[in-house]
Amino acid sequence: MNDNAMMLDGNAVAGELREIFAVEVTTAVGRCANCGAVAVLAQARAYTRSPGIVVRCASCNAVLLRVVRSTNRAWLDARGLVYLQLAMSELPEG
Ligand SMILES: [Zn+2]
Repeated sequence: MNDNAMMLDGNAVAGELREIFAVEVTTAVGRCANCGAVAVLAQARAYTRSPGIVVRCASCNAVLLRVVRSTNRAWLDARGLVYLQLAMSELPEG
């Protein structure tokens, strides 16, 4: 079996992403791509008096997240995070 036979298009992750983006994010734990600090997102510094929201690392002040919202769209730039770990409800057994 080649790789293409195992690949699906982006629609295949829609359910998974819908579940992930619906959880409480302030308790999420992120790792800063600049300094490597690992912290709860609620401890980061948020700057909201700008066209978008900028969230900075409490350790090194690097940008972790940018969020820009228009009337019918949102842009999320998370390149300042290596990862964001979210608490999820347990998957059923089996
Ligand atoms: Zn940092």
